Amino acid sequence: MREFDVIDRIRRGNSSLAASVIVPPGDDLGAVKLPDGGGVVLAGVDQVIGGVHLPLDASPERFAWKVAARSLSDVAAMAACPVGMVVAAALSPRIETEWTTRFSIELQRMGTLFKCPLIGGDIAVLPGGDAPMVFSSTVLATPDSEASNRMVLRDGAMPGDVVCVSGAFGRSLAADGGGHHLGFTPRIDVALGLHRELRENLTSMIDVSDGLGSELAHLARESHVRIIIEGNRVPRRNDASLEQALCDGEDYELCFTVSGTSRLPASMADVPLTIIGTVQQGDGVFLTDGAEETRFEASGWEHQGAEDHDADRPDSKGVSQ
Ligand SMILES: [Mg+2]
Repeated sequence: MREFDVIDRIRRGNSSLAASVIVPPGDDLGAVKLPDGGGVVLAGVDQVIGGVHLPLDASPERFAWKVAARSLSDVAAMAACPVGMVVAAALSPRIETEWTTRFSIELQRMGTLFKCPLIGGDIAVLPGGDAPMVFSSTVLATPDSEASNRMVLRDGAMPGDVVCVSGAFGRSLAADGGGHHLGFTPRIDVALGLHRELRENLTSMIDVSDGLGSELAHLARESHVRIIIEGNRVPRRNDASLEQALCDGEDYELCFTVSGTSRLPASMADVPLTIIGTVQQGDGVFLTDGAEETRFEASGWEHQGAEDHDADRPDSKGVSQ
């Protein structure tokens, strides 16, 4: 299954959507306008599979954090404000009440931490003990009133913009990498701070769940532009190689474009920000070392072989927005 193909298929139905749909499928969250002048609400859903996105024996607190933080990362990608969350869990019959209690307590704690209260959910028990546990989190959000209720979409990058990222990339899943993917902080404060400061000069944004290269490809595609990345500028985590930084995924950092006329702060909410490339006319994502350009393909970077980090990757990432 290729993510672009699935999104394309869903997109073909977008032309017949109701006028109330402000952001159709294809962005980090969708958005609808409520009737009778009720404002705009954003929503998105994410899934976490035990044994794929984190080890089956991870603690209930780890599960809760990842389930909620993945959704909150999508809220950050829109520069929106989270308002509430519902979580569904299909659990192994081996799971005991104490586990689900700790899981729900952590979700409630996160709700307080990120101003996104748990407002409902559902628990089902799977028929067999060997089935993977599946968690689904649905998040609701509103546009940021302190930034004129504007939302930052994937389609706003313009030739002349610079391409920027928060934090660092690669080896999030590596056993010796500190377990970044288990305890990352969704970059809501970074996104809101940037948006309030840069306003329209923050032209597009996405969060990095599937890998920086793949997310850049989304921005380039949605914005109908060409993106050039300077490999030596990409900040790397835990001695990651460039390929790992571009392809591993599960970084949950922000990737965004800024109008070339504005200045990027060095950091926001104590998270470093780095310019890694530029936006040009054209299409595709290219990596440059100053001499040669290499084009990114859905299967990876051309002319670069798969490295040994595949063992660290989940078996299936599915279609993640
Ligand atoms: Mg996303």
